[in-house]
Amino acid sequence: MAQVHSIEHFVGGARVTGRSGRTAPVFNPATGEQTGAVALASRDEVDAAVASARAAFPGWAGTTPLRRARILNKFLGILQDRIGEMAAVITAEHGKVLSDAAGEIQRGIEVVEFATGIPQLLKGEVTENVGTRVDSHSLRQPLGVVAGITPFNFPAMVPMWMFPVALACGNCFILKPSERDPSTALLMAEWLKEAGLPDGVFQVVQGDKEAVDALLNNPDVSAVSFVGSTPIARYIYATATANGKRAQCLGGAKNHMIVMPDADMDQAVDALMGAAYGSAGERCMAISVVVPVGEKTADALVAKLIPKVRALKVGPGTDAEAEMGPLVTKQHHDKVRGYIDQGVAEGAELLVDGRDLKLQGYEDGYFIGGSLFDRVTPDMTIYKEEIFGPVLAVTRAPDYATAARLINEHEFGNGTAIFTRDGDAAREFAHQIEVGMVGINVPIPVPMAFHSFGGWKASLFGDHHMHGPEGVRFYTRLKTITTRWPTGIRAGADFVMPTME
Ligand code: NAD
Repeated sequence: MAQVHSIEHFVGGARVTGRSGRTAPVFNPATGEQTGAVALASRDEVDAAVASARAAFPGWAGTTPLRRARILNKFLGILQDRIGEMAAVITAEHGKVLSDAAGEIQRGIEVVEFATGIPQLLKGEVTENVGTRVDSHSLRQPLGVVAGITPFNFPAMVPMWMFPVALACGNCFILKPSERDPSTALLMAEWLKEAGLPDGVFQVVQGDKEAVDALLNNPDVSAVSFVGSTPIARYIYATATANGKRAQCLGGAKNHMIVMPDADMDQAVDALMGAAYGSAGERCMAISVVVPVGEKTADALVAKLIPKVRALKVGPGTDAEAEMGPLVTKQHHDKVRGYIDQGVAEGAELLVDGRDLKLQGYEDGYFIGGSLFDRVTPDMTIYKEEIFGPVLAVTRAPDYATAARLINEHEFGNGTAIFTRDGDAAREFAHQIEVGMVGINVPIPVPMAFHSFGGWKASLFGDHHMHGPEGVRFYTRLKTITTRWPTGIRAGADFVMPTME
């Protein structure tokens, strides 16, 4: 039996033991053993964290952007030095392979790098002489205390989509990580403190719905960033905005990849293998539906996919040979298995069945092997719903127009890709597809930190995407100042609507 350790909050610059009396178990997904018990914050505990952040806000907002950037720069150095340490913590609770855990930290690091440019990013606009001897300038100021509520699948990267930009802009940040892999957040809090971040500027409250609702109902929380499933994204967006808060809520996905008849088939298949099965399919940008155009393309694609899916190396995340680890929890494992059962019952052709995979020495781990369905049609549940597991669906389309229509008619619009050698088809696709992030011969088109990340339709509620310029706008509010200095020339009172002369 593994030793079960307590996973705490981080408030006021230190780890704080939970007082609510409620905890949730945390498991090692490779072995099925409980390794931790995470505290679940009560409303009072959340309110105390918000009060501590509120008290820290004037000092932090008053710190010059350059000094804030220097602290983030130190944090960046710490992260780079200890990437292996953080990756091990992610793998132990999430299950993904170590190299993939290091990859998500790297994508987070890039947002920290972006945020260190904040003095440049916060520069405002000035117009001289908007009227005679009158000048205007606009600037962006921090919001106050902002909160981030994050999913299990990227315990490092998704919080880092949010807090580096929020902190650089001068806000105080409260992170409510997923209760399934909560330890990475504590490392981030400790390393930020080590980098010189004042106490109270970054806090971690562990918890579930109770903690989230406390954040949504606390009037001192000015904005909420959320990433997770669509039903919760919708709920959080509705509640936060009804309470007068700014909100950006990213939801689920069902990302399609079109393979045109002229595509380089080997390149498309290699791209699909990583995009569909990497991180056991538990990525919001995973490709879960591939749409080959024409029967010949479909037959060739499927023939190349089958042996590769069968040969996938599944193992514990700590095994350097493994390409794919277990699913995050027993409950999620059973849900994904249930989807495969349902696909078979609905008449899809299961070409590779990963349901009964057992690994020697890891019999209690939450493993499912790579699974591949052919002839999945849009009326099937496995086509409509997000499975979030290592299950790829092939949906055949007779022509490009049908393939594109499938994507545009789907509920979700997070990411999509087309594989083709035809620049005209690719351009048309990029232009008319109703999806927020588009790849041309790139299967997972996650924007770099200096662009912004976000989907369309049921994949995002709110006006702003995350990080990049959109992140800076989200975490700041605009102020426009119009200035006239007395000249000694007296014009008398003016009672009409001011128009600049
Ligand atoms: P989830 O919605 O279950 O949980 C996300 C967060 O919401 C967690 O912190 C959780 O504690 C909290 N939460 C859960 N139920 C709640 C409730 N009833 N009320 C208030 N808060 C609640 O999501 P998950 O299973 O952790 O993550 C997987 C989902 O996240 C997938 O749907 C995936 O597509 C999505 N995701 C989307 C993106 C994106 O960029 N669009 C990125 C990563 C993950």
